[in-house]
Amino acid sequence: MDQQPSHVAEVAGMAVRRALPQKPRRTVGAWCFADHFGPTDATSPVEMRVGPHPHTGLSTVTWLLEGTEHHTDSLGSDQWIRPGQLNLMTAGRGVAHAEQSNAGDGVLHGVQLWVAQPEATRHGDPSFEHHAELPQLVLGQGRATVLLGELDGVRSPATAATPIVGAQLELAAGDTVVPLDPSFEHAVLSIDATVQLDGETLAPDVLARLEPGADQLRMTATSDAATSRPARVMLLGGVPFDERLVMWWNFVVRTHDEADQATEDWNADTGRFGGVASPLSRVPAPPTPW
Ligand code: MN
Repeated sequence: MDQQPSHVAEVAGMAVRRALPQKPRRTVGAWCFADHFGPTDATSPVEMRVGPHPHTGLSTVTWLLEGTEHHTDSLGSDQWIRPGQLNLMTAGRGVAHAEQSNAGDGVLHGVQLWVAQPEATRHGDPSFEHHAELPQLVLGQGRATVLLGELDGVRSPATAATPIVGAQLELAAGDTVVPLDPSFEHAVLSIDATVQLDGETLAPDVLARLEPGADQLRMTATSDAATSRPARVMLLGGVPFDERLVMWWNFVVRTHDEADQATEDWNADTGRFGGVASPLSRVPAPPTPW
């Protein structure tokens, strides 16, 4: 099983650990981007403020472990999100949004993931879904919450354009056998504990990648004496995404020309991405590097 550590990146002045994309293989199923942020220091609360910015060709998956965030977008959505809930924003040809955490919460901790849209949907209309409750399945003494797609026959109500799974697992001490779809490739990202995957040690913020073909994965956690909290890991997977992607800034496209056009359309405010109700400043697109 291949393992690659996340690298540190910056989002709106806040350091994040970026697990995807990686080289040479940038995607896991249609998952093409994974940032893990926080937990922030409760004694010096941080407010994450990401002003209006555009997306195209992808869905953003926002998942919090602690804290709350406020989302507004060019569809008129105005939504607070709390731990255990899912915000899924699908860009299609273009959408814009702003996100702001609530510093009053003390601690902010979560992940933001992107799912690449396939050719069949990437030119379509944007949409936004908030799912306040998500299905869970029992895994040994632990459990899994299914954010997107399907795990062991339990399906998320969130819209998915390709065969996919995104789940948060809470592992009790001991072994947990996680059933997998053998047609999927998978990745495991531990949030806050060192775990064993089929006997191989995986530290937090390291992405373990599994090839298609496996129908189960044994995860072993030890109890955290300090917190007595279960180990939390993210499971991402899907049918290998075979469309060539160009990822530039907040755009997932297929060619440099498409990225140039999206950059121009956002910076000229042509209306392609719409407007966002937000007290924060619009984030300009940087010039493309080619
Ligand atoms: Mn965004």
